Amino acid sequence: MNHSSYKLIFKGVVQGVGFRPTVYRVANRLGSHGFVLNTGSEVEVVIDTDPDEFIFELRKDLPSLARIFSIEIVRDKRRFSDFKIKKSKQGSKQSLIPVDTALCDACLTELFDEKNRRYHYPFTNCTVCGARYSVIKNVPYDRNQTAMDEFPLCEECTKEYENPFDRRYHAQTISCPHCGPHYSIFDEKGQNIKSNNPIYEFAQRIDNGNIGVIKSWGGMHLCCTLDTISSFRSWYHRPQKSFAVMVKDSRAAKEFAIISKEKEDLLNSSNRPIVLLPKKKKLNVAPGLDYIGLFLPYTPVHYLLFDALEHNALVMTSANIPGEPMITENSDVFNLHADVYLLHNRKIPNRCDDSVIKPWRNNTFFIRKSRGYVPDPIPVSYDAHVVSVGPGENVTGGVSAHKNLYLTQYLGKTTSYETLNFLENSIRHLIKLTMEKGEIDAVAMDIHPGYESKRVAKSFAEEFHAPLFSFQHHWAHAASLLLDNNESRAVVLSLDGLGYGEDELLWGSEVIDTSFTSYSRISHLKAIPLLGGDKAAIDPRRIVFAIFDQFDEELFFTGKKAELFRKILSESPLSTSFGRVLDALSCYLDICCKRTYDGEPAMKLERYLSLGKKRFSFRPSVNQGVVDTVDLFQQLHKHSTILSKPFTEKDKADLAVSFVDALVSSLTQEAINYAQDHSLKHIGVSGGVSYNIPIVEMIRAQVKKEKLQFLVHRRIPNGDGGISAGQNVLAGYKLL
Ligand SMILES: [Zn+2]
Ligand SMILES: [Zn+2]
Repeated sequence: MNHSSYKLIFKGVVQGVGFRPTVYRVANRLGSHGFVLNTGSEVEVVIDTDPDEFIFELRKDLPSLARIFSIEIVRDKRRFSDFKIKKSKQGSKQSLIPVDTALCDACLTELFDEKNRRYHYPFTNCTVCGARYSVIKNVPYDRNQTAMDEFPLCEECTKEYENPFDRRYHAQTISCPHCGPHYSIFDEKGQNIKSNNPIYEFAQRIDNGNIGVIKSWGGMHLCCTLDTISSFRSWYHRPQKSFAVMVKDSRAAKEFAIISKEKEDLLNSSNRPIVLLPKKKKLNVAPGLDYIGLFLPYTPVHYLLFDALEHNALVMTSANIPGEPMITENSDVFNLHADVYLLHNRKIPNRCDDSVIKPWRNNTFFIRKSRGYVPDPIPVSYDAHVVSVGPGENVTGGVSAHKNLYLTQYLGKTTSYETLNFLENSIRHLIKLTMEKGEIDAVAMDIHPGYESKRVAKSFAEEFHAPLFSFQHHWAHAASLLLDNNESRAVVLSLDGLGYGEDELLWGSEVIDTSFTSYSRISHLKAIPLLGGDKAAIDPRRIVFAIFDQFDEELFFTGKKAELFRKILSESPLSTSFGRVLDALSCYLDICCKRTYDGEPAMKLERYLSLGKKRFSFRPSVNQGVVDTVDLFQQLHKHSTILSKPFTEKDKADLAVSFVDALVSSLTQEAINYAQDHSLKHIGVSGGVSYNIPIVEMIRAQVKKEKLQFLVHRRIPNGDGGISAGQNVLAGYKLL
């Protein structure tokens, strides 16, 4: 027996994932004496046996969610007579916070085992599965700091909790039918319906065409069967919006979408995101789009629900009043006026909407990064505590500490008071989880004068006496792309809807030479007037009218209306938005002339872009980096007048591809020329338009042809959900 001891300090995802029990079991197996201690930032293990053997054995047994980033080994003089798990202590907060993780196989088996005491128990979980981020109120991760603090363990659960050889040993959120939370069912008036089996009762009503609300770990969903979708749409005032569908299992998923092995793995991953997949059936859930968002059950209640249902798929969407965050309080949810509610009595400290992923090649584009992924730390080079508040829509917040950047879950549109609160609270929560002392060194926001999120930024800056920095929207997008790819400089096509420009115009098609300390705008589309400002986003016919007016063609509006519009054109805001040009094209081709949800005309155009061929050769004139969109529309119009009307589907697709290719390749060529002149090796794409797969493919092909490196997003959302990351890193560099 070796007479000296060793202290091993483990960093990584080592809390709330069954790490300490595993250490305990390995120590017992090897006959090591000493202890394991959760310090709040790391796990400390002291043993009196060979550390290399210990680490080797530990790695073999490592729980699936645990990730060891580093191990520090130091000599220790102490002696021990047994091995103990010591009580957690509050230390520096550098430990990574675990994410919500789908029910594991062992728990799933128990869920349907009649002899098990957790048979059909909708809150079963263990050390490797269950709600984490959505129920954690503070670190260290212990039961009394989670939403389970209101449910003391019963005798039997305590035994499991205290038995190092049980798979629920020190699992903080365990419970059973005797001691845990429970579900109840309520009718449309919010009256409790007496039932011995509320889940079964709920399933029957959903099968019969009711619209229901179901509460799970980190939020509530509205749900109904696919047969009920038409009435659901009119009830929810969402005539066209695509809804995600939860399917019973992979087999059911394959009925609705074409699914490769990789995508099936993504669906089945313990993060359980909604995955956008090529649509198989003509479904009314995503009208005009060629993909459908599918996801699999992830909480026990979802499994029990599908077990009881006749249907194998349900429309599932976050339960919220449009424009506001997802509802979390039982008392608030009845305002939705659904037919039936399946609710439980556990609180939701941190709501998390479902994450949405669009796979591309071997990549994942996060349309929404939330449940199952948050908080995913992104290493940064600065130590400063920076808070960033994002832009105005699809907002996330950012907090940096200990050279890691954490983004909040998806928050939504900050025009609602509730979302602003959500933004502030989510940032405060991350501050609490990641910093010993809540001291903020800087606060970052957008330069847009109208964004409500700036109020949150200003109040943080005031409270912490921290400097406040503002950054241009597309620079922030581009900076987030650099961070995502671990690069320090690149030429970035920052393409999206609208962002406020330094020249007070609305930008959205910026080719920029980007670094973390400066940027310069190389190229962009010609500015066009957004007729009537915000109205032009909802009614793309106005943009078409404004563009065609510049070459004396009158489209969509004539007579008095046209006269009036011509008058207000001169007062309308000018914009270089790429997104609005796509909207205009979508409308001109009669694909979508009315926006009923964000991005609708451009998203519907995407299907045509993936179907069409480059049949017409358009080429916009380019003058000092400004690509003439109006000129391009004039060419489109000239070519299309010789085609039969209304356009055939094939003509629409070919015109769309020819037009977009001309537009994209002009901007990309400007980027390439600049990169080659300045010996830069990287060209990338960011912003909401970079979710559009055919457009990303066009840019990629052109960049690859020049043997340059092509950068896309991997972990940070391409769209406005990534802005807080860009703002954070730009502010972090200001302090270096
Ligand atoms: Zn489990
Ligand atoms: Zn119990």
